[in-house]
Amino acid sequence: MRIVMKFGGTSVGSAERIAQAAQLAVSSVAKGHEVVVVTSAMSKVTDALIAAAKRASTGTWDPATRRELFERHEAVAQALIGSEPVRQTAVLEALRQRLDRFEKLCFGLSMVHELTPRLLDAISGTGEMLAAPLVSAAIAACGRASQPIDATELIVTTDQFGGAEPLMDETRVKTRARLDPMIAAGEIPVITGFIGATADGVLTTLGRGGSDYSASIIGAALDADEIWIWTDVDGVMTANPSEVPEARTLAEISYSEASELAYYGAKVLHYKTILPAFRKRIPVRILNSFNPSHPGTRVSVEGNPSASGVKAVTSIRKVTLIAISGTGMQGIPGIAAKAFAVVAAQEDANVLMISQASSENNICFVINESEAPRVLTALRKGLEIELMRGHVEEITAEGQVAIVAAVGDRMRGTPGIAATVFSALGTAGINVIAISQGSSERNISFVVTEKEAAAAVRALHGAFHLERA
Ligand code: ADP
Ligand code: ASP
Ligand code: MG
Repeated sequence: MRIVMKFGGTSVGSAERIAQAAQLAVSSVAKGHEVVVVTSAMSKVTDALIAAAKRASTGTWDPATRRELFERHEAVAQALIGSEPVRQTAVLEALRQRLDRFEKLCFGLSMVHELTPRLLDAISGTGEMLAAPLVSAAIAACGRASQPIDATELIVTTDQFGGAEPLMDETRVKTRARLDPMIAAGEIPVITGFIGATADGVLTTLGRGGSDYSASIIGAALDADEIWIWTDVDGVMTANPSEVPEARTLAEISYSEASELAYYGAKVLHYKTILPAFRKRIPVRILNSFNPSHPGTRVSVEGNPSASGVKAVTSIRKVTLIAISGTGMQGIPGIAAKAFAVVAAQEDANVLMISQASSENNICFVINESEAPRVLTALRKGLEIELMRGHVEEITAEGQVAIVAAVGDRMRGTPGIAATVFSALGTAGINVIAISQGSSERNISFVVTEKEAAAAVRALHGAFHLERA
């Protein structure tokens, strides 16, 4: 079986964790599988890189960040391969080169004071480029040939910096040409997650948390038999376990459930991960590198639907509810179309949820908090005429809200789910600000204040008895 294995930040967060990750890859090869590894940056490294880039763009370049990053990775290199001086020298040299590049970029930034999305990608992608040589060295230390490979050589993307999309045909050609011979020779390639490059070779990132997506892209390009996402929990759970202590691992979910859960805030999978795997019907497993004997979650076509309909409850924070309202909106065609043209086409903001009251006096939608100020300004300008004529009375933004979603394939056609959701919220005394049911009927989502989000998730989890198998 050909398996693409992705290790997340905590799964490569220390020398011990990297040694364990290497062991997991090597033991699969020992069982006769072909294994390709995709690695995230060590935990917290991407945050540190982004913070350094932001500081540099204000004119402050503090070489301490480079030093700290070098020391953390160097200590890991020493712990993993201290007894092999030749290999160690090569790894330390790779770390130095990558950090030199990082330092030069930050230094330049501190001169020009302008942090473009392109520069931010060039800097934030460094973490994976530091981790891959360490993971590869750990595999070699277990006696398997291995090479670190920058995904800039494999994944060809659009130039949407900060959230680039793969060009699958080009990616497939490059990935196969580079990796097939290595796999055939019994090597374990270790690929940097999170990053890719445009056709011209400019480094891009796939978005925060994007290493899961990298694994799915590489898995599809290689026609892998399975994609394994090694993380720090026992799989996809009925809710975020840090929010709902009684949350339970789901043994099996469908591609559509996985994608809906990820889209609505289950951070365990990057929201774009499922599509490349789904197109090729490659099963995805989510496994715990801290508890590898646990079977985790399997993502498949059928997904073992639950009788109650709802499989899991998720939440998305740091979002803003924008409302366009006015009694004069009734019967005036095109206001919604015009509003969404401004939000999506002109401002390129991601609309997470839409809700329209049946009276047509109000359209509201939810976007990420960071995009709210510019979207609000653009909407007020774009709907200037409607505001002047009084068809639209006001455009408002309500921050500190959250989306909560109940997700499950069998929700479709199961009566009474909405009643259970809203009576549970009523009993818990939680006020619902807006409601939406996706047309797929695989989810019901609603907006509550951020303060009440955790209570809302717990109320739904309890109402659908998700703690029970
Ligand atoms: P990694 O570094 O391995 O990519 P992430 O931190 O991105 O890991 O994702 C794993 C985390 O996702 C878990 O530790 C958990 O806190 C969070 N999480 C949120 N919702 C869920 C859910 N429904 N099931 C499992 N984990 C979830
Ligand atoms: N290191 C990147 C991030 O922190 C990508 C990932 O871990 O998936 O966003
Ligand atoms: Mg992640």
